[in-house]
Amino acid sequence: MASGKVRDYYKLIRRVTAELDSGSPIDRFSATVVRGIARSTDGSASLLLLDSTGKKLVHSTSWKLPLSYLKKGALDAKKSIGETVKKQPIAVPSVSRSKRLQYRQYALDAGFTSILGVPILTNGKCIGSIRVYLKENRDFSNNEIEFISTMASLMQLALEHQKSINQEQRLTAIEPEEPKILPMLTKVKFVHPSEEEFASILDFYNIEWVYEPKAFPINWSENGAVTQMFTPDFYMPAYDLYVELTTMKQRSVSAKNKKLRRLRQLYPGTKITLLYKKDFERMLARFGYGPLAQTKGHGVGDVLYSAAQIQRRVHAIAKEISRDYEGKVPVLIGVLRGVLCFMSDLMRNVSVPLNLELMSMSSYGAEEGGVVKITKDVGMNLEGRHVIIVEDIVDTGITLTYLINHICLKNPQSISVCTLLDKKARRLLDVPLDYVGFEVPDQFVIGYGLDFKEEYRNLPFIGVLEQKLEA
Ligand code: 5GP
Repeated sequence: MASGKVRDYYKLIRRVTAELDSGSPIDRFSATVVRGIARSTDGSASLLLLDSTGKKLVHSTSWKLPLSYLKKGALDAKKSIGETVKKQPIAVPSVSRSKRLQYRQYALDAGFTSILGVPILTNGKCIGSIRVYLKENRDFSNNEIEFISTMASLMQLALEHQKSINQEQRLTAIEPEEPKILPMLTKVKFVHPSEEEFASILDFYNIEWVYEPKAFPINWSENGAVTQMFTPDFYMPAYDLYVELTTMKQRSVSAKNKKLRRLRQLYPGTKITLLYKKDFERMLARFGYGPLAQTKGHGVGDVLYSAAQIQRRVHAIAKEISRDYEGKVPVLIGVLRGVLCFMSDLMRNVSVPLNLELMSMSSYGAEEGGVVKITKDVGMNLEGRHVIIVEDIVDTGITLTYLINHICLKNPQSISVCTLLDKKARRLLDVPLDYVGFEVPDQFVIGYGLDFKEEYRNLPFIGVLEQKLEA
């Protein structure tokens, strides 16, 4: 095995143990493990956990798995390379010839040729599995299986640690009952107009959603009767994520926050995000709606990064990319127009040969069909290629998620993401980023390609926009 690979394995084990030691949140920890495995095996990876019935395996965190594959649904723990639940690593060297796979056609459609499943064991009992998916016909080496098994052991430690924290934090002795599935109305009746607007934004991006799908009991009387429920506004099945909108008065936001904390304690595996009024209005403004759409730019406020600082950071990222893609010819794909300055500086500093593609996207209102439209798609064949998506800024992560899914369908061998700016505080959809220039505060930034209403792109630095509501 190439010594570079072994070095990758050791590097990842060191990083993962350091995160474990620092008490990194379980979601972040899982993302590091899954992404690290995918990168060091040149494949895709997923962490599957057994649900509360112990019969179904659910994709909890995944990297480079196409949406179409994730959407296949939960796996029957026994049917889907069921031996992993019997505590053995199982390799499926040829997906096309395998009789073991529950969703073989989905795997074939995704272009996977071989799959490895390694169980996560605790006290000899299987609680989940790490899966690795390859698009090349090759056997998994013993070293690879050992490495992934080590990762599975570290994952088990993190899950156990999380469980003990949850037990300590559990305020009530009453076990939460399974959330009730509320009957869905054929035509959704939204309680608040903002919910309807949010639903149409998700529709823009082709993101599947369900309105108020579950009521979570969060408080009980002494005799065990449910006294309080929490029903999140939206659920996005593809991301296993609930979203609660808080577009009302500040007073009710605090009460909502309290309920949310309670829900997280009682249902620790549940991913739920609060979307605050300000964030929601910014989202609407992007489509020309809401109060913020009426704001006017009043020049540049603070300068966050000078031209020289940007250049230094871009050089450093280009060096990292050149090292990671040695011997390969990656395709850099950027979305116009915000990425222009970053892309041109970045590519001129990458030393490996590369190809360049520029895409453009626009979104249309409900009258015009209500979807994101790719007005210029990638022209070249991406089958088997190493793609690097280059972004100006990642904010909610919705655009990038849409883009990754779109590019995944073109069957590249790998996809990684490079963004100049990461506005982490506003993330709604969890998208792993491989190369990040700067983490920016939760403010609207302009310059170095980034605009406000098509202005300010030509500033050589990045600054904060001063905004005022139009009278
Ligand atoms: P997301 O889909 O991640 O919420 O948003 C990504 C896109 O929103 C970016 O490509 C960019 O066009 C726009 N965007 C998000 N935040 C900012 C910002 O602070 N400044 C500017 N100029 N554009 C932003």
